[in-house]
Amino acid sequence: APPSANVPTPTGALDNIGAIVAVASCKGGVGKSTTAVNLAFSLASRGARVGIMDADIYGPSLPTLVEPEERAVQFKDGRIRPLEAHGVKLMSFGYVNPDSAIMRGPMIANVLNQLLTTTEWGVLDYLVIDLPPGTGDVQLTLSQIINMTAAVIVTTPQKLSFVDVVKGIDMFDKVSVPSVAVVENMSYFVAPDTGVKHHIFGKGHQQRLIEQYGITDSFSMPIDPELSEKSDSGIPYVVANPKSMLSDEYQRLASAV
Ligand code: ADP
Repeated sequence: APPSANVPTPTGALDNIGAIVAVASCKGGVGKSTTAVNLAFSLASRGARVGIMDADIYGPSLPTLVEPEERAVQFKDGRIRPLEAHGVKLMSFGYVNPDSAIMRGPMIANVLNQLLTTTEWGVLDYLVIDLPPGTGDVQLTLSQIINMTAAVIVTTPQKLSFVDVVKGIDMFDKVSVPSVAVVENMSYFVAPDTGVKHHIFGKGHQQRLIEQYGITDSFSMPIDPELSEKSDSGIPYVVANPKSMLSDEYQRLASAV
């Protein structure tokens, strides 16, 4: 039986969500969470109702990346009220259970599904799910039990990125979730004094992706110290710098999902 057979989804829990967009990466540390957060806030800046689900049990990053307006989530009648920042709803294991890292294997998908479906998201146009890194059982199971609309795959130019991206696309293909965009993060650096673009890790594989997989929406995000700084201080970059070239690129990504 498929792993999803014994994982019930409470009916109706995610019915009022227009699109569920998964942000995935093969490895950790490539900027998946940064991408998920800035994508979500870019969507919200256009007036969309947006939620972010940080699905990383072992290393929840949403509590660091976004400073919510309230301190703690509230439980009521077995449901959880999400936190909020700048109108975006937030849920993370970091808010509910700091001891959760003892869980293993496909069970994680079950637990993730439970947190996702007991959260009172209300009516949303988009729910952005920041998936745990990897393209293994947990990610596959989760993509089977949640009706995802689209996937965004995040990679970097230096980490065997082409192989990573293909693994990600293949995984989502298996469960009929279209990979609508590939984000090559930390793709280049613009020298502040000269304005010259340096492709420090070499050029990525965008052209090959376009030719072999028909992925036309590929994005290159620069290495930007401010992106990292803002993330660490809890203010999403696109909220702090709405009128920058990088925010424009995140807007373009928002148009692709
Ligand atoms: P992941 O979710 O893939 O583990 P994160 O989004 O947490 O990765 O990013 C890892 C680290 O790299 C964070 O400190 C983040 O601020 C930083 N970072 C991500 N993208 C960029 C970028 N384009 N420029 C500079 N720093 C970045």
